[in-house]
Amino acid sequence: MAGVPARQIGWVCECGETLKNGNQCPNCGRTIIIENNGDAEA
Ligand SMILES: [Zn+2]
Repeated sequence: MAGVPARQIGWVCECGETLKNGNQCPNCGRTIIIENNGDAEA
């Protein structure tokens, strides 16, 4: 377990890049699987 990413800022890739557009990292191109915990906004 590496910890929970900041939910109010956005999702953070393993490389440390913050994802704001969709779930693909603009830095390394890795696709992040966003899990819905039932508390999703917007
Ligand atoms: Zn990345």
